[in-house]
Amino acid sequence: MGPVLAVDGLKAYYQTRFFGTLREVRAVDDITLEVRRDEIYGLAGESSSGKSTLIKTIARAIRPPLNVVAGSVRFDFGGQGAHDIYALPAGELAATRWRHLSYIMQGSMNVLNPVRRIRHSFVDFAYRHMALPMPAFLRRVEEHLAHLSLQPAVLDSYPHELSGGMRQRVTIALATVCRPEFIIADEPTTALDVVVQKGVLGMIRRLQREMGSSVLFVTHDMAVHANLTDRLGIMYAGRLVEEAPTRDLFRRPLHPYTAHLIRSLPRIGDDAPRHGLEGKPPSLAAPPPGCRFHPRCPLAMEVCRQEVPAMRELAPGHRVACHAAEQGMLP
Ligand code: SF4
Ligand code: MG
Repeated sequence: MGPVLAVDGLKAYYQTRFFGTLREVRAVDDITLEVRRDEIYGLAGESSSGKSTLIKTIARAIRPPLNVVAGSVRFDFGGQGAHDIYALPAGELAATRWRHLSYIMQGSMNVLNPVRRIRHSFVDFAYRHMALPMPAFLRRVEEHLAHLSLQPAVLDSYPHELSGGMRQRVTIALATVCRPEFIIADEPTTALDVVVQKGVLGMIRRLQREMGSSVLFVTHDMAVHANLTDRLGIMYAGRLVEEAPTRDLFRRPLHPYTAHLIRSLPRIGDDAPRHGLEGKPPSLAAPPPGCRFHPRCPLAMEVCRQEVPAMRELAPGHRVACHAAEQGMLP
């Protein structure tokens, strides 16, 4: 079977007219990647690198001024053949949600209706997607909550009666109770303290194994990626700059930006000052020519200022877009 998700040459720009001139913010600029069945694919990069815009575009959860200007997003649910999500009629797209594709948005704890008990959120969102009578549905919900170490009593609670960690677990339970084949999660643990975060990550991993789902997991937190993901893509200024099995990427990063992200991770017993990176990520409305990282890159050469580096596979399963890496220079 082929990959469950194939993104090809995807460009999604925020387009606005300003006194008649078109202004574009190239938040997602020519991204190609695949997510396989049964894997957790991580997306990393600092805030405003385009991660959230990319996954919103993948889930077809976008509205103007954000538009797809090129490329395709194809899902193959159940190995039945790949379909472009943008070619699906609205009705089929709605049917795809929850059952096949579930999207846990950033700050999605807020999807829980504050004036309704948790039980009602499950009934409102998930019941119609499951061909089960109500008592069996509620039993299924309780079993599923138990997987996330939540007591059936949470169903009778209001959201404000639960801690942040419990609310986030309820949200994850809600997003996964229909056993979707593909789960997209955007910073689902960022607001949680470290202990709760660890618990939630362990549960996402367990759910993924038990259900055999694929997960596209987004966070800027490299430590989370190291613990959770199977493969990892690094975004910088709207582009994918490196991708590899997570272990390989941490052992031997080939892109200078990835090397920087890994070096800035705190290490136990190591008080040496962390290497900072000069400058800020570029504005996506006017990104620099050539490699977008060149103004900050310690290895930048003349060619980097002129030519966009192409994504190339330099080791098995390890792709990188960098002129220096192509010449065998290590960051
Ligand atoms: Fe640095 Fe050049 Fe590689 Fe870009 S292409 S990361 S500027 S060496
Ligand atoms: Mg984001």
